[in-house]
Amino acid sequence: KPTKDRQRLPVVPQGIEREDFLAALAELQGQIGDENVEINDKPLKDGWYMEHPNTHDMMTILDDEELVASAVVYPSSTEEVQGIVQWANKHHVPIFPISMGRNLGYGGAAPRVRGSVTVDLGKRMNKILDINPEDYTCLLEPGVSFYALYDAIQAKGYDHLWIDTPDLGGGSVLGNTIDRGVGYTPYGDHWACHSGLEVVLPTGEVIRTGMGALPGNNTWQSFPYGFGPYSDGIFSQSNYGIVTKMGMTLMPNPGGYESFMYTFPNEEDLAPLMEIIRPLRISMILENVAQLRHVTQSVAARGLPRSHFFSGTGPIPNDIIHAAAGEAPVGDHTWAYYGMAYGPPHIRAHKLAIVDAEFRKIAGASKVDPAGLPADEYYFSRDRVAAGVPDIHELRWVNWAPNGAHIAFSPVSPIRGTDATKLFALGKRLHDRYGIDFFPAFCVGLREMHLIVEIVFDRDDPERKQAALDCLRDMIDEAAEMGYGEYRTHLVLMDQVAGTYSWNDNALMKFNEKLKDALDPNGILAPGRCGIWPKRYRGRGWEM
Ligand code: ADP
Repeated sequence: KPTKDRQRLPVVPQGIEREDFLAALAELQGQIGDENVEINDKPLKDGWYMEHPNTHDMMTILDDEELVASAVVYPSSTEEVQGIVQWANKHHVPIFPISMGRNLGYGGAAPRVRGSVTVDLGKRMNKILDINPEDYTCLLEPGVSFYALYDAIQAKGYDHLWIDTPDLGGGSVLGNTIDRGVGYTPYGDHWACHSGLEVVLPTGEVIRTGMGALPGNNTWQSFPYGFGPYSDGIFSQSNYGIVTKMGMTLMPNPGGYESFMYTFPNEEDLAPLMEIIRPLRISMILENVAQLRHVTQSVAARGLPRSHFFSGTGPIPNDIIHAAAGEAPVGDHTWAYYGMAYGPPHIRAHKLAIVDAEFRKIAGASKVDPAGLPADEYYFSRDRVAAGVPDIHELRWVNWAPNGAHIAFSPVSPIRGTDATKLFALGKRLHDRYGIDFFPAFCVGLREMHLIVEIVFDRDDPERKQAALDCLRDMIDEAAEMGYGEYRTHLVLMDQVAGTYSWNDNALMKFNEKLKDALDPNGILAPGRCGIWPKRYRGRGWEM
């Protein structure tokens, strides 16, 4: 294992001689400036969330050197992105675009193919091109974070505009959206809320989707479809293009909001709760992508290490978790529901009364009074996020393990008691098998939910990393056998997850590969991302 404090030789993409590669990089320096092409020959520094590396995954589940970039390049414009793509085709160099690279839990900034040249769009292409206060829309470059968009709207005094933010606000709005990330206001389905893309294709042409294709239009950000096939879909969770601009819709300030939190005492409350939540959510009485969290993660969200509570090995015993929860202001429980009601007081009161009557059908349900909670309680982080205010409190549970890192298992299911119970039991059994603490959180969309299970591991402990990876691989396979698939996954797991979407002899992947070969004949753009390998790589042992 290379030490972290020595100069490293840059990794060279497979199939290219070192000198040829260095000559190609020098040529690229001539194109976009010496300072905008950086060879990755420095020690790999992990940093932390707000000062994250763009050369590798700071939370890698593999060895540090497995998924590293050979170089990082910083374009300043769509034209420069086109130039980089043409350069990559000329030299057959794999390139991997990132917006900001804060895709933690799913691979961070790392490329799927070792030695790819990372195209860091966010550093120099970070402008908010437009905020339209009449249409409630904006147009963004890849480097605009949720914090930056929020701050810009505040600075303009646009009190009537809200944004939607995921759990952590430091990532790119564009990057999160094209990876189909979610947030927690009624605009939480980011992909559904975007309107219009500008994309550089793998052969260097640039297109605008939807109304953006009509010169002189003024509806690019308000009508997503335009005319003809709706092409935006193929640029999300794919490797078919580099997105250089994205339109996003903004939510109207609802004229008031109010967080609420209910706790429920028993593990078995999960199934009846889901039956209560489903009709409320589909009819929008529960208005936002809300979370039902397990107490183990809530205890971890206090930011203390697991060793503070328990020094043994294997999963932390239930009685210790419950004792720890009992000492905290929220009190002992097994499930906590975090939601928000939007609108002026009389509108909220109507919805909150229905929610209260329904949730109290679970014996022992309790509504938490925020007045009794300290200011740093996790409740207030959920409150900010559900009101579209970016936050990073969520990072605290990563402290659970020393050198804590996390990686997610995220299957989709209907909002049903039977499905929730099956997925909970599967996750619990496999976490127990590998001696891992189980952090399940059900994120309720509209007609479906994502179960997000975050495994926190010590990134300096190869044995725990392997256990986390084995556990994930088993969960993915066993969930697929039961008919559940992931909505998104980590780089390392993409081949496996793509392989579970296999209906009709992998017909969907065959279609994806046909598109890939047509759009990217040299296979230079993010090979292997989302399990899609270009012809040059297929069947040559790249899958993992
Ligand atoms: P964030 O900082 O919001 O987490 P990332 O930059 O890490 O976002 O983006 C998530 C993933 O989406 C990246 O790993 C990359 O594969 C892909 N991606 C991000 N930005 C672009 C882009 N502009 N064009 C194409 N793919 C992108």
